[in-house]
Amino acid sequence: MKRLSPHRFFTSLAAKARETRMPETVTFELTYGCNLRCVHCYNPTHRVLPQELSTEEVFSILDQCADVGVVTLTFTGGEPFVRPDVFAIFEHAKRLGMLLELISNATRITPEIADRLQQANFRSLAISIYGATKDTYELVTGMPGSFGPFIRGLECLISRRLPVIVRMPVMTDNAHEVQDARTLVEGMGIRFQYCVDIHPKTNGDTSPLLHRLSPADKVRIDLAMLGPRDQAAADEPCARNGGFIECACGQTKFAITPYGEMNLCQGFPMPKYDLRKGTVKEGWEVLKQTVDGARPNDHYECPTCDVRDRCRQGRNDAWLATGDMSVCLPHYKELATLEKKASELDVPSLFRRV
Ligand code: SF4
Ligand code: SF4
Repeated sequence: MKRLSPHRFFTSLAAKARETRMPETVTFELTYGCNLRCVHCYNPTHRVLPQELSTEEVFSILDQCADVGVVTLTFTGGEPFVRPDVFAIFEHAKRLGMLLELISNATRITPEIADRLQQANFRSLAISIYGATKDTYELVTGMPGSFGPFIRGLECLISRRLPVIVRMPVMTDNAHEVQDARTLVEGMGIRFQYCVDIHPKTNGDTSPLLHRLSPADKVRIDLAMLGPRDQAAADEPCARNGGFIECACGQTKFAITPYGEMNLCQGFPMPKYDLRKGTVKEGWEVLKQTVDGARPNDHYECPTCDVRDRCRQGRNDAWLATGDMSVCLPHYKELATLEKKASELDVPSLFRRV
């Protein structure tokens, strides 16, 4: 029998999904409830509202995901451990044979929860870090006393040798600690990633952008953390397919909100197909039509843009910020221009001030 490495297996699976236009990966936001109040958060409420899906509704959606061929399921929130039925949901997904991933802030991880996570067989646990010190971490989370539970939760996961990655959203409030956070995390023997992109809330509120780094500061951080060519520690951007909506959303991926809405992605909350009124299979057809039917308007400059190969703007960024997917946002144009300049000049020392 031919044996494939995990990397080759997932690469060929993704290629097959692209070819057949089948949904291979799902992000499932189990709740908007969260015990933290991060300043940059795109979560519209942080509270558990009555319209969130019941356990039975979640089970039914998971069954339907398995039926349409979903292989990888990422559970996130809010904070997933706010839901009391979270392990019943994990067990159900595990029984369906899907590969499971989890995103959490770790502040609710106790030794008992870490033991149960060991049984749940997650492929990866992505833990968010908001600062290397108590002051900065709690400035971002807005929650005094949250740094201690975060460190203890993280240590519980590490001591059980669970597959942890620690990710830092870098913003104006914590950029001065990104190097220290990397040292802290790597000193624990864990892989560190960071991301400099901050997005509007899913309801269009742009207040998180007040905490976004300037384009010049983003480039400085990338150069100081990675060097001009090494992208290994940066969060991986969505792959591009050459269409108007260029990412994998609606091609091989989709997302589900805590209210049972099926969307292109967590950060691209459309078309809000209601899974309480229809099925995942029907919703996938609606998502495909949404992507295929999206057309640029007169504001669309990308095909002639000379920094397109550097651009990190997604159609969702323009849509969330302005309601128009076609527009070029000045922030991203400036960022792409600076990145291009830095790579051409190859003078990272000009930018190295982190
Ligand atoms: S932990 Fe995550 S969901 Fe909770 S407030 Fe922070 S960014 Fe938002
Ligand atoms: S910088 Fe603006 S015009 Fe250029 S590719 Fe990005 S979004 Fe399009």
